[in-house]
Amino acid sequence: MRTYFIAGNWKMHKTIPEAVALAAELVKELKNGSGKYMIAPSFTALDAVSKVTKGTNILLGAQNMSTDEAGAHTGEVSVLQLKDIGVQVVILGHSERRHIYGETDEMINKKVRLALSHGLEVILCVGELLSEREEGKAEAVCEEQTRKGLAGVSADDLKKVTIAYEPVWAIGTGKVATPEDAEAIHAFIRNIIADMYGKQAAGEIIIQYGGSMKADNCAGLLAKEDIDGGLIGELLSRPKPLFPLH
Ligand code: PEP
Repeated sequence: MRTYFIAGNWKMHKTIPEAVALAAELVKELKNGSGKYMIAPSFTALDAVSKVTKGTNILLGAQNMSTDEAGAHTGEVSVLQLKDIGVQVVILGHSERRHIYGETDEMINKKVRLALSHGLEVILCVGELLSEREEGKAEAVCEEQTRKGLAGVSADDLKKVTIAYEPVWAIGTGKVATPEDAEAIHAFIRNIIADMYGKQAAGEIIIQYGGSMKADNCAGLLAKEDIDGGLIGELLSRPKPLFPLH
């Protein structure tokens, strides 16, 4: 039985006091929740928010990290620095990183392996552009991003990986995928995991949906067999309305 995993990606929003206040509110609201929860504030707020989430049932996530452990990488943040402030999970391969900042599958895979080698959990985001969906390439794109993103990841390390299926055309647009369309890709990704790691691993891996998921559309999505939670980036990243479902 997979646990629902609800994660908030706060993107480039919130000052430190705002982030701390929202984190504190969520800690209170979720303290008896039965799911798995994570919030990913901006780098600048991670340290302050880590003091709020420490010892609670909310994991602390980062939204990205460098391909390298240390060195001359101006403007980057290293896995060691994330661990240093209590980060437990890192979101990698988000479509905004892929399509705005030009991150390739090879870079993302390097980050995935580095994060796992340091004991962090990873949320690996995959998803097609609208043009790719219209050309009938949604599955092929998700397959390539999944296989390349996980290249060299051991079956043991896969236990620390969550996949987030995030159709790019649904992110921040208000256009949510239908539960049926999302489920089709989730089931497809689970089959790829079965092909790479076997049936048991495929049955255990959590596959989140991301893309304009909200209180009024989450029930249909989460009711689907292969949709195990959500990665939610909506401005306030308040997953609270989703929780009564769990
Ligand atoms: C995201 O950024 O991962 C995301 C899913 O955003 P939104 O919920 O705003 O579509």
